Amino acid sequence: MNAKGGPDGGDGGRGGHIILKGNRNVWTLLNLKYRKHVIAENGVNGSKNNRTGRSGKDVILEVPLGTVAKSAETGEVLFEITHDRQKRILTPGGRGGLGNWHFATSAKQVPKYAQPGEPGREEWNILELKLLADVGLVGFPNAGKSTLLSVVSAAKPKIADYAFTTLVPNLGIVRHRDNTSFVMADIPGIIEDAHQGKGLGIRFLRHIERNSLLLFLVPATTDDIAREYHILLNELRLYNPELLDKPRLLAVTKVDLIDDELKGWLMPTLPTDIEVVFISSVTQSGIVELKDKIWAYLNEALPPQSHDFDYSEEE
Ligand code: GDP
Ligand code: MG
Repeated sequence: MNAKGGPDGGDGGRGGHIILKGNRNVWTLLNLKYRKHVIAENGVNGSKNNRTGRSGKDVILEVPLGTVAKSAETGEVLFEITHDRQKRILTPGGRGGLGNWHFATSAKQVPKYAQPGEPGREEWNILELKLLADVGLVGFPNAGKSTLLSVVSAAKPKIADYAFTTLVPNLGIVRHRDNTSFVMADIPGIIEDAHQGKGLGIRFLRHIERNSLLLFLVPATTDDIAREYHILLNELRLYNPELLDKPRLLAVTKVDLIDDELKGWLMPTLPTDIEVVFISSVTQSGIVELKDKIWAYLNEALPPQSHDFDYSEEE
């Protein structure tokens, strides 16, 4: 009540939103796996002197770029997080109610009625990671792809759904310095079919088309490393020329099988249009260097930071 006795009940605050926020340094949805129920705070009631209640605190969930939010009920895609720091509301908080002064009329100057706030929305959403891997391994059978993945990756969780894929890739989370990590995919069959003259066709995993680094693997014991690399490159070109726009790196594998003399001999025969790292999954030589290089490429290759939020809120 104010001095003149008019209505002065403030409006209620809105409930907290549940917001997804893109983070280029988050690579998986694993942290949310153990957080199935996310509840935002209620809004606070309005109070006298027309004071509007505080809004409930928003809950911000940091997710990797490429996260797709879907309604669990309809399967409908709600939105996708594609850039760093992009924010979208997943579940809006309930609207706050209107204080009693909104309902004052000449007949009823101090209404007892105030509009109740909207109840919070309760819903199930599905978050999927469309961007399955950051690094796709490209190589003929026996190049050492599976072995490399088993050596560099700490865990092999199934991270996402494979709706867009026809073949299940073997994914590994590669832990790197300073608690960073990236996802590496060993893709069975990626080149095998091509090798048999069938072409990559639809068996080629579509996700490799998105935001990834291609790591080519050619064994050190190969007669002509440059030639094999160019055959692989050509297979990719036939499938989708845009793949050649991606950053790529060549790992010459199994270097433990050759001696220094042979290594010195093959150095000048290497392709010159790609950065080359010598590795051995058996002795681990070159593995740290490889991870450093991958990390550097991934950070360069990420989409530029964007500041035009779909939704912005003072923080
Ligand atoms: P993929 O077909 O490309 O997945 O190749 P694999 O990882 O299955 O490896 C093919 C063969 O090469 C296996 O017998 C591995 O043990 C072997 N191999 C893989 N990496 C190395 C390595 O660094 N040194 C040696 N000496 N052998 C390796
Ligand atoms: Mg394999």
